[in-house]
Amino acid sequence: MDCLFCAIVRGEIPSNKIYEDDVCYAFLDINPQAPVHALVVPKEHIPSANEVQEAQAATVAHIFTVLPTIARTLGLTNGYRIVSNVGEDGCQSVKHLHFHILGGKKLSEQMS
Ligand code: AMP
Ligand code: ZN
Repeated sequence: MDCLFCAIVRGEIPSNKIYEDDVCYAFLDINPQAPVHALVVPKEHIPSANEVQEAQAATVAHIFTVLPTIARTLGLTNGYRIVSNVGEDGCQSVKHLHFHILGGKKLSEQMS
């Protein structure tokens, strides 16, 4: 399967790693849209938030338990935004579930 984020997780494509454990991998976004912009992905290939199976629920829950550690590592002491784009209308460009972590400034109240 030709998946960019699977290749990053395997170390075949370089990335700026922030955090890694058995379940997930976090790295800096190559095209930051905020002063701090990172991505957290499950190591397991899940196409999007629209396709999470019951057996993968613990993986997604785990990501949310380590988000505070990742945010702290990024210096996000005053809050941040978590975004997961889904499908065509959601402008998802990489078909491997990922959570954007955006921060480092007061973000826009506009979500779309
Ligand atoms: P999305 O549009 O929600 O699917 O987000 C995909 C994100 O992956 C975008 O913000 C891209 O800038 C980012 N991205 C694409 N290729 C890479 C890469 N090689 N390393 C880090 N981030 C990447
Ligand atoms: Zn993948």
